[in-house]
Amino acid sequence: MPKPVLIVGAGLSGAVIGRELAEAGHVVHIIDRRSHIAGNCHTARDEASGVMVHVYGPHIFHTNDDEVWRYVNRHMTFMPYVNRVKTTSAGQVYSLPVNLHTINQFFDRTFRPDEARDFIQSQSDPSIGEPVTFEDQALKFVGRELYEAFFEGYTRKQWGCSPADLPASILKRLPVRFSYDDNYFSHLYQGMPEHGYTEMVARILSHDNISIELERNFVRSDAGDFSHVFYSGPLDGYFDYELGRLGYRTLDFEEFQYDGDYQGCAVMNYADADVRYTRVTEHKHFSPWESHERSVCYREYSRACGPDDEPYYPIRLSGEQALLAQYVARARFEQGVTFVGRLGTYRYLDMDVTIREALDTARSCIRAFADGLPL
Ligand code: UDP
Repeated sequence: MPKPVLIVGAGLSGAVIGRELAEAGHVVHIIDRRSHIAGNCHTARDEASGVMVHVYGPHIFHTNDDEVWRYVNRHMTFMPYVNRVKTTSAGQVYSLPVNLHTINQFFDRTFRPDEARDFIQSQSDPSIGEPVTFEDQALKFVGRELYEAFFEGYTRKQWGCSPADLPASILKRLPVRFSYDDNYFSHLYQGMPEHGYTEMVARILSHDNISIELERNFVRSDAGDFSHVFYSGPLDGYFDYELGRLGYRTLDFEEFQYDGDYQGCAVMNYADADVRYTRVTEHKHFSPWESHERSVCYREYSRACGPDDEPYYPIRLSGEQALLAQYVARARFEQGVTFVGRLGTYRYLDMDVTIREALDTARSCIRAFADGLPL
């Protein structure tokens, strides 16, 4: 009997890899230190209100990847959902991402698309070439006034540092639109799993060749009982933080309930630096096909991640990049272990990219196992 494969972490990466391996005939054991599956996209119904809560903050599925979209739909019905985010800045509510409505409202104008484009271009800082920092990216593409109103304070709260110290790539996630399209994402497919992400992950994991053990920490000495390990926990944690800790931001959620509709939308950002939270999420609006009288809301606060906190966003500033390179060098020497996912590779990954990479990793490993190659 060949030894089973061990997967550390029952989040999206672990579940997708586990399922692919199981379907290829491998026996798979999955452990997770938490008491639930689905990692940070875990959803659970609030008992009192029946509202489906995104326990670790909002997760909206969006992708351009046909195969990934088919994959998630194979396991769960996806309900139509369009992420429309609002932001409160200096006592007014605006629409995000920055679009024609935001621009016209902010500057008290009635620009048509071309006029708005020319106007915003006139606000752009001409001394910036190819932007390297978040701040440069903002000053180049939206100009100082919109940057200060919508991005500077929010980003300081979210990342705990000046936007001048952050990479431009963080802001490149957001479009600027010269139309009234206020869809936060530009992807072809977008939706919400009808019965939540945890149920979707449970269905992915539902296979005779897969066993799951919750509230079980991984220790490296476990690896001997298995033919291979897929590790989706924190990369530095695998090496017992011997070289130091990679920096993360963690989130605190302050829950409150409300009778009725608290804010009329799922996500309201708070751009001002003097409001300590970054945003308020009203979870029943993530399931607009359901009807609930009572509302469950989270005020979301971001801060540096301590040793006992949940890691959320990898920081990836220059100090972390140097430490990451050292851990990556170590990981390359580690026989029989593949590091996967947001924590295992220390990257800011959307759910669709996580699934894409998990499918690709599983398939290349299945081929290598079949050829008897060491990994
Ligand atoms: N951001 C901002 N103001 C906002 C929304 C976003 O300054 O109202 C910045 C912030 O730095 C954030 C980045 O833009 O980290 C990317 O936004 P996105 O919504 O992709 O962040 P997520 O919460 O999904 O990581």
